[in-house]
Amino acid sequence: PFDVLVVGGGPAGAAAAIYAARKGIRVGVAAERFGGQVLDTMGIENFISVPYTEGPKLAAHLEQHVKENGVDIMNLQRAEKLVPASREGGLHELVLANGASLKARTIILTTGARWRQMNVPGEDEYRNKGVAYCPHCDGPLFKGKRVAVIGGGNSGVEAAIDLAGIVAHVTLIEFDSQLRADAVLQRKLASLPNVKILTSSMTTRVNGDGTKVTGLTYKDRVSGAEHDIELEGIFVQIGLVPNTEWMKDAVALTPRGEIVIDARGETSQPGIFAAGDATTVPYKQIVIAMGAGSTAALSAFDYLIRLPAE
Ligand code: FAD
Repeated sequence: PFDVLVVGGGPAGAAAAIYAARKGIRVGVAAERFGGQVLDTMGIENFISVPYTEGPKLAAHLEQHVKENGVDIMNLQRAEKLVPASREGGLHELVLANGASLKARTIILTTGARWRQMNVPGEDEYRNKGVAYCPHCDGPLFKGKRVAVIGGGNSGVEAAIDLAGIVAHVTLIEFDSQLRADAVLQRKLASLPNVKILTSSMTTRVNGDGTKVTGLTYKDRVSGAEHDIELEGIFVQIGLVPNTEWMKDAVALTPRGEIVIDARGETSQPGIFAAGDATTVPYKQIVIAMGAGSTAALSAFDYLIRLPAE
């Protein structure tokens, strides 16, 4: 069995694997797609101490660093079921889609999350070419330009307030007849001179010139009329969905599906830890996921050294 089995190979999983392996214990990583969301990212400008890198390059470095520490990487392996140990200190079981079953004294869940998409024409084509999902990451790329934020929940309104301080103009588009964000955020948004709010509006198309976004089309859900807006960027903020559906019987999740962890990365189940975008950690970023993965690995090691000798 593994001493530490990491599920997921993004920044959180890679950090957890390296920190655990450096304790001289047996560590494995099972990942559906090693690299995680980083593989889908173009420029990264907020990975501290590296002023600029690109997703595929960072993912390759993550993999190299993990391998150099003697970790067994099982890539292209999707976990489907987690069976916690029946007694404290016993072995947990992870069942993979290929039918194999892995056993481990501790497990670190780092399965990340995915941004909910609008699913309209042009969205995939112009992803990273004007269509963005992360204001902390890509906001500065649109300095002085015009952008739209799709979604009037807390994350959409926070993004609009954040972006209004950087870009020339923000159009916030909400499907419902009213915004759903907290009142304090809505008041702040309404006070900003360079923000326009459109409610009862549904984005129907991302428009572009073949290389980048030039605007979007939305439908006024009251009149049924379609309108075009010219702009350079579109931030989609309609939800970040944790990849945790398959583990709901094993560890406690919030109503939104985030794995509940404490400050040490412990889940509700002794010996099972979690880190990164799949968890209740407040901000979803590469450096934060790496810090959380390291925390979870150190906690797993702390747990292991307290297990009674067999
Ligand atoms: P992820 O990166 O999501 O990795 C999850 C891992 O788990 C993957 O290996 C996945 O294949 C695996 N997995 C999922 N389900 C299973 C399963 N059932 N079985 C086995 N494996 C599974 N952050 C920044 O800090 N700066 C940026 O510039 C930036 N830009 C971004 C741009 C885009 C387009 C996107 C989508 C995100 C961006 N982010 C950025 C956010 C950042 O990528 C995430 O915060 C970070 O990758 C989270 O790391 P993670 O390890 O928790 O999860």
